[in-house]
Amino acid sequence: MVYLHFTQPMPQSRSAFEEVNQKVRLAADLLELKPGISQALQQCEREIVISIPLRRNGKLEVLTGYRVQHSSARGPRKGGIRFHQHVDLDEVRALASLMTWKTALIDVPFGGAKGGVAVDASTLNDLEREEIIRRWTRAIHHVLGHQRDIPAPDMGTDARTMAWLMDEFHRLEGFQPACVTGKPIELFGAPGREEATGRGVAMIAAAMLDKSGEKTKGARVAIQGFGNVGRFAALACQELGFKVVAISDISGGIVKRNGIDVHEILNYKNVSEVPSHDTIAPGEVLEQRCEVLIPAALGGVINSENVSKINAEFVVEGANQPTTSDADVELRARGITVVPDILANAGGVMGSYFEWTQNIQQYSWPVDKFRRELDARMTKSFNEVHKESKKHSIDLRTAAFVLAVKRVATAFALRGELV
Ligand code: NAD
Repeated sequence: MVYLHFTQPMPQSRSAFEEVNQKVRLAADLLELKPGISQALQQCEREIVISIPLRRNGKLEVLTGYRVQHSSARGPRKGGIRFHQHVDLDEVRALASLMTWKTALIDVPFGGAKGGVAVDASTLNDLEREEIIRRWTRAIHHVLGHQRDIPAPDMGTDARTMAWLMDEFHRLEGFQPACVTGKPIELFGAPGREEATGRGVAMIAAAMLDKSGEKTKGARVAIQGFGNVGRFAALACQELGFKVVAISDISGGIVKRNGIDVHEILNYKNVSEVPSHDTIAPGEVLEQRCEVLIPAALGGVINSENVSKINAEFVVEGANQPTTSDADVELRARGITVVPDILANAGGVMGSYFEWTQNIQQYSWPVDKFRRELDARMTKSFNEVHKESKKHSIDLRTAAFVLAVKRVATAFALRGELV
């Protein structure tokens, strides 16, 4: 099982890693890279699969954990850790590869990696969550570190999980706060990091409207997911003047045509608990009439089953791989512009870079500086991708991959041909 769905069953899908590699191949062909280099960029440098024994409910369960390091051509590998029941090696490979392209695209000195544990995070108590991340860290600490591979939060993990990871790493390797990002502010975290992905998504949505000659003020936005990315994207969209008309999470969805007050609902844990709004099924949020649709939950949610019902002008991919390749083609044919994940949700790793830098320098930035740098660098990356797409008359996803693949291939080649 590769792609996840929540309304209709997915049609037979390709592997998620193959979907990413398809885009890498296209970029490599456009760049006329040597076949060997193109091939190297489609492989992962190192893949680790571990077993994690967990005592719960009086029994011993054995979970499977992963760390895939896709590339270190441009710097230490960087990527989150996901706790989700559908995590598997193929998904982790795909996400690790996406990190390589994302870090190259926004031009930060990292490579790509991803980790995960196949477990339903909603069934874990704090003690179990701590046990899992400590065992995960113990099993692979020899390949982690601030100059080797730097994890961060992803679905099902958060700042607290990163604090436990850091603590376990310190016990084994000594003090090194830059070994992980997305930490609590009170424990070497950076003010601004938690909101960075969502804020970046909103900035990119505004930049997209601006380039298309449309106003941000009053533009309708629908958001799937109300976790780290969805919540902060909703908040930042509202601050930028968008009208947030629909939001959903796994528990349910709400819709309000004249605009949801995001501040008012922010403290609800689940969207289904929010009172006095019209309710919709979680999947229906994708079909709402709006200018901007932000999928910010799972992969594969816009697929051949529901693509014809997408009712937005722009899809800004907050989640990783929310659009299948087939659906991507159909969206384009219908004139719907997709801003790809490796650009749209790169604010998170940009923020992680700022946190890593501050930890290494032992110098902390005020949140205003963090936001200014984030906004400026995300806008710069958007402009570069937009320019590339216009220059070669290609879609934004292809343009983003061309820029990213070019940077990684150049670094790879400059490192030399003798091994
Ligand atoms: P999260 O665990 O904080 O939140 C996930 C949200 O998705 C929750 O609100 C959950 O209820 C919702 N959801 C889960 N299943 C759903 C379903 N079937 N229908 C509707 N909603 C559902 O995760 P997150 O960190 O916000 O990550 C979301 C996506 O963004 C993932 O694809 C992740 O890889 C990507 N991403 C996250 C970051 C980051 O910094 N956290 C950075 C880049 C990309």
